[in-house]
Formats: sequence, C-alpha cells, structure tokens
Amino acid sequence: MPPPLYFDYNATAPLKPAVRDIMAAVLAETGNPSAAHAFGRKARARVETAREQVAALLKATPAQVIFNSGATEGNNTVLQAFRGTRVLVSAIEHSSVLNSAPEAEKIPVTLDGLVDLDALESLLQQRPSPALISVMAVNNETGVIQPLQEIGDLARRYGALFHCDAVQAIGKISLDMTTTGIDYLTLSGHKNGGPQGVGALILRDCTDGTCIPTPTFLHGGGQEQRRRAGTENVASIAGLGLTCDLSAQDIDAFVALGALRDRLEAGLKTLSPTVRIFGASAPRIANTSFFGVPGVDAKTIMMTLDLAGVGVGSGSACSSGKSALSHVLKAMGVDDQAATGAIRISLGWATEPTEIDRFLDIWGKRVRRLTMDRSS
Ligand code: PMP
Repeated sequence: MPPPLYFDYNATAPLKPAVRDIMAAVLAETGNPSAAHAFGRKARARVETAREQVAALLKATPAQVIFNSGATEGNNTVLQAFRGTRVLVSAIEHSSVLNSAPEAEKIPVTLDGLVDLDALESLLQQRPSPALISVMAVNNETGVIQPLQEIGDLARRYGALFHCDAVQAIGKISLDMTTTGIDYLTLSGHKNGGPQGVGALILRDCTDGTCIPTPTFLHGGGQEQRRRAGTENVASIAGLGLTCDLSAQDIDAFVALGALRDRLEAGLKTLSPTVRIFGASAPRIANTSFFGVPGVDAKTIMMTLDLAGVGVGSGSACSSGKSALSHVLKAMGVDDQAATGAIRISLGWATEPTEIDRFLDIWGKRVRRLTMDRSS
C-alpha cells in the first residue's frame, strides 16, 4: 500500500520535526512561568523567547504579543469587545469572526473573492462611523490574498480600527505590522507546522502614545500582563515560537509550492475539463486550490478520495454533522450547482512533487468517471 496523501494543510499541517522536538523538551520540564523560583524562571524564559520569535515574524515588538489558545479565541476576543458598535466584516470571514459578530454588516467580495474596496468605502461613509473593520489576510477556502494595505489605509482615513485574521497567512506571505495599518492581528499555531490549540493576538504598537483598547476575554490571574488570564501553555507556546522562526526561513520553499499547485490544476483540467477553479484570477497563496466539478457532490468525491487514502478539504461546513454550501462561494456569486462540488486541496512543507502525480493518477482512475458522467 503506498503511503496516504495528506492534502489538507489549511485545516491543519503536520508538525515540523524541530517543533515536535522543542515541544517534547519543554514538556519534560516543570515550572509555572509565573513562579519566582528557578523552575518558573526557566518556563518564563521559554515563553519570552517564543514571544520574540512571533514578534520578529510580524515586525512587531514582544510587548505587542498576547498568547492565547488559537485564532477562535483571538477572533472572539476582538469581535466581542466591539459589540454594541458599528462593525464591518467581510462576507468571507471564518465562522469564528462571523459568529462572534452576528450584528456586523457584511462587506461584499468580487467574483474573484477579493474584498470590494468601493463597497467598503461606501459603508465607511455611512453613519454612525464604523468602529472596527475585520478582514482576513488570506481566505482559508480559496487562498485569495486580500488587499490589506488598501483596507488599512481606508480604516485610517475613516477612523476605524482594523482587525485582521492572519491565520492562513503566517509563514506564507510576509506581513508587517508597522506598515499594513493592522491594529489587531490574530494567528494560530497549526497551519504551517506548529501545534494546535495555541495562538496569539498581536496589538498595534503604541509606543507613540496612540494606544488602542486592549480587549480582554478571559478573566482570572494576571498572566500576559493582565491581558489574558490562565497559566500559559508553555510547550505549545515554545512550538509556536519556533514555527514562526522557521516560517521566516522557509517562505521561499512555501512559494515554490505554487509550481506543484499549478501542475495539479493543469492535470485536473485535462482529466475533468468541466473543473472550475475558484479565485484563480486573484492573487492566491501558493499552496491552495479550491475547485468544483459542477453537479458532482463534494462529499462523493471526498469519500472516493478518502477510500484511496487521500485527505482533502471541502467547501462545506461539516462540523455540525450537516453540510452546507460554502458561504465563501455564495459571497463570490457562485451558483449552488457549482458550489456543491467544491473541493479544497492544500499542500505544505512536507508535500513531495511525486505526490501530485499520484494524486492525478488516483483522480484519473477513480474520480474522473464521476465527473464525466455529469458532463456528458
Ligand atoms: N480563521 C481562519 C481563517 C482559519 O482558517 C481558522 C482555522 N480553521 C481559524 C480562524 C480558527 O483557528 P483555530 O483553529 O486556531 O481556532
């Protein structure tokens, strides 16, 4: 049996070996970072090293970094703090943003899945003035990279704060807190070789005296400078720090995945000519391909691939056991028929070029006939 093919990095990526090693080393140590004795100081040093590594990746200072349990917590922390004010969120945000701000107004996206900047500006011109704009750096389904600089500029011009869910951008595109105008950035450890269940909220630098409100979600002890209560997850924080360090070095290797992704898309189009690739004409991160075969249910394709040992994602929200059509594709104006078959392939640091050939071989032998039946 050939080894299985893992093509679902945007859901979670395999842990990088060096990250696993540092986490194992820290798990073998004992100490609460808040304790004053040598054991505690060692744990504190682990946390502070990681804080420097996370900050360096984003050109931020360590004081701007607040560790937490991941992006769902980070997004809830920011969005819930702005309840009762006028908030604008893009229509393609992750559910951890959308469900934290049910009253927020939606910023539409273009057919390519890019935030519609003219629509954003006209929403900003309406009164009362929005207090917060929330737009992700990279969409988790399509991989489309959003125009952050332009959004940051608009936010400044109209006096709104800018929250950016950067989960899918970390280590994949370069992000600079000093120039993009981002006030609150949320990230997670597990999309590029780091651990699950850990993340960070990064605040805008306020050493110039223009501080923004610090949203606080969990109350309790004084950890994280009283900004996030609860004993730090030291091993995972150390893993997240190293992941950020490695991501800075490995960004060229990530960009090189684009050639594999393009080869995969070209092969798919040859085998199943009705395949439609979503967001293909917008700037996309290198590892992601989101495509649909009109009229073929994504679940059927996923199950067929699963039986052949291939793990891919879909555009459906299946977490509640029910599947729904992708809200991202709906926002992009994709009709239900095309959205029903949406499959997401996402590659990453351990993907080998030969895996693309094996995938296309499996598609040709097992999936192609499903797609041909529909197109004939
Ligand atoms: N935002 C985006 C864009 C994501 O892809 C994810 C993970 N699926 C999250 C937020 C949630 O992150 P976490 O798993 O750390 O809660």
